[in-house]
Amino acid sequence: MIKNKTQFQAGYSLFELFQDYGSEEQCGQALFKWRWPDGFFCPECGAEQHSKIKTRQLYQCSRCHHQTSLTSGTIFEHTKLPLTKWFLAIHLITQAKTGVSALSLKRQIGVSYNTAWQIKQKIMQVMKERDDSKPLNGIIQLDDAYWGGEQRGGKRGRGSANKVPFVAAVSVDEDGHPIAMNMHVVKGFRLNEVAKWAKHHLQPGSTVISDGLSCFSGVKEAECFHLSIVTGGGPDSVSKEEFTWINTMLGNVKNAITGTYHAVNPRHLPRYLAEFCYRHNRRFQLEDMLPRFCYIAVRTPPMPSRLLKLAEAYG
Ligand SMILES: [Zn+2]
Repeated sequence: MIKNKTQFQAGYSLFELFQDYGSEEQCGQALFKWRWPDGFFCPECGAEQHSKIKTRQLYQCSRCHHQTSLTSGTIFEHTKLPLTKWFLAIHLITQAKTGVSALSLKRQIGVSYNTAWQIKQKIMQVMKERDDSKPLNGIIQLDDAYWGGEQRGGKRGRGSANKVPFVAAVSVDEDGHPIAMNMHVVKGFRLNEVAKWAKHHLQPGSTVISDGLSCFSGVKEAECFHLSIVTGGGPDSVSKEEFTWINTMLGNVKNAITGTYHAVNPRHLPRYLAEFCYRHNRRFQLEDMLPRFCYIAVRTPPMPSRLLKLAEAYG
């Protein structure tokens, strides 16, 4: 019997989490190491000389006197939550197979629903910014999709009202197996929208395979090659070999989001799509999900309160 590579990898247990990051001190030391691997430097002027203000857990720059906390300027800024709870939340969310709802997070880490919701959004924001900084390359399958509508009988639902359009892209290896994917909400399936997306999320020189939807030739503006395969849009189109993975992924993301979150406000859909892709792109790295995530999290700017308020309003 061939064991599933994802299911049978070593992983990282809750027990290990509590051993490694069970106290505030352990979490603080780890975060410091990830934020300043070569030792502290002032985020204002870059100087390394500093003193510690122990009572307030601040680092003061000896040159410009700027005061920095471990979490200031990062996604953790102004948090009132113990780091141990943050780490537990990050562990649960990065290790989850499909997703963890705010309600489930609230129960598992022992915070209010609002707090759980905000943590969840911030963690997803880190995931989004991380993968947004890594454009796909090589051979890429590209497809259009909609959130909020049915896709039965091979119908694509193009142009339907009240649906959120998004592009789904998967880079594949020579055997057509998926390497990495991304999904992004677009304003519509127009050439300039696809071009704009491609410039951000595809590396020049990539080969993009799509169906015959004309806007996809917009990838050429991002210096990519474009191969258009006419599928006819009928029930057979989903079984075309070239689109096997993208269709599987689209089915998976919809099941995962609907199954875990039931309803997602379209405003927040970009982050939920990013969360799904982030985990999928790292499905063989379960063992070091937390350190990798935190390394990026301390390099991700705070989420503006304006966005958080918006998030609360649409919880
Ligand atoms: Zn300074």
